[in-house]
Amino acid sequence: MNTPQLSVVIPVYNEEEGLQNLFDRLYPALDKLGVSYEIVFINDGSMDRSAAILREQFQIRPDVTRVVLFNGNFGQHMAIMAGFAHTHGKRVVTLDADLQNPPEDIGILLAKMDEGYDYIGSIRRQRNDVWWRHVLSLAMNRIRERITRIKMTDQGCMLRAYDRHIINAINSCKEVNTFIPALAYTFARNPAEVVVGHEERAVGESKYSLYDLIRLNFDLVTGFSVVPLQWFSMVGIATSLLSACFVVFLLVRRLLVGPEAEGLFTLFAIAFFLIGITLFGIGMLGEYIGRIYQQVRHRPRYLIQAVLDSNQERALRSEIWSRSGDGMERRSSLVPRS
Ligand code: UDP
Ligand code: MG
Repeated sequence: MNTPQLSVVIPVYNEEEGLQNLFDRLYPALDKLGVSYEIVFINDGSMDRSAAILREQFQIRPDVTRVVLFNGNFGQHMAIMAGFAHTHGKRVVTLDADLQNPPEDIGILLAKMDEGYDYIGSIRRQRNDVWWRHVLSLAMNRIRERITRIKMTDQGCMLRAYDRHIINAINSCKEVNTFIPALAYTFARNPAEVVVGHEERAVGESKYSLYDLIRLNFDLVTGFSVVPLQWFSMVGIATSLLSACFVVFLLVRRLLVGPEAEGLFTLFAIAFFLIGITLFGIGMLGEYIGRIYQQVRHRPRYLIQAVLDSNQERALRSEIWSRSGDGMERRSSLVPRS
């Protein structure tokens, strides 16, 4: 099998309305690049006609299309993980199926790679999402920069290009909860970023609710840093020191001024504040422990129902063909001995 120069990985979850538009723009955009390519679609357990549309597309362009069909919904990042495992290209580009990132911009990423970079992230020129997504993104970018060494200007943009050595490294990871752009960053020797376009979602809705986004960001934080745990240790140390000083102060005050009875509600306020910090700390600890638990269970990260791959089909056909040569022998070996 010839190794293509480019593999494009696209996770698909309930995107039936937009898929035809995607095909209409993606294939011409890739043809224009003048490189050999393959496209790997992963159907992440869609409940609509997405799987059927992908099957049809595989029939139309079996030469460059591969389709991985999941058994259920395992999430965008697991879908990309599975997609990576089914790529052969020297370079791999990830893209969303909703056309928010224009496929025509893939060339910009590849041109940057030609300059010697092995991982190209992207920054959305003008972001077209609802306002609270901007705010959350901004806040999470700040927090991430503080607690991990990962430097991404725009962590939410999935139009990214990876060199084969990064893909091999990711393929060797067995993480249950992960965030692909950050994982790739940890393996990159020489990362860079380019500015790309961003459009509003033309059809369908975002698959991420506020809750999903918070969970994803917890994956990012817990997956790449233990700094939050250290923060709680620091807060614990600081609070202990402060309260020790306070006890000394109260003792001295009692001896000099007499017993203290007022300030009850101040005490409540301080107590509630500290309870809040404690609960948050326990929750944070739980986030780590929960993920450790998921990891140690060693359940399959995703289940693949079928892979539509013309190379495999060809290989299977030739195997059957070559087996049919020794068919007699095989058949005779199947006859029970008396
Ligand atoms: N997606 C997926 N599985 C999911 C959720 C999303 O494969 O559980 C895919 C989705 O089909 C799309 C991409 O991930 O191709 C990004 O999803 P979406 O556009 O909803 O995210 P947003 O752009 O709002 O961040
Ligand atoms: Mg989108």
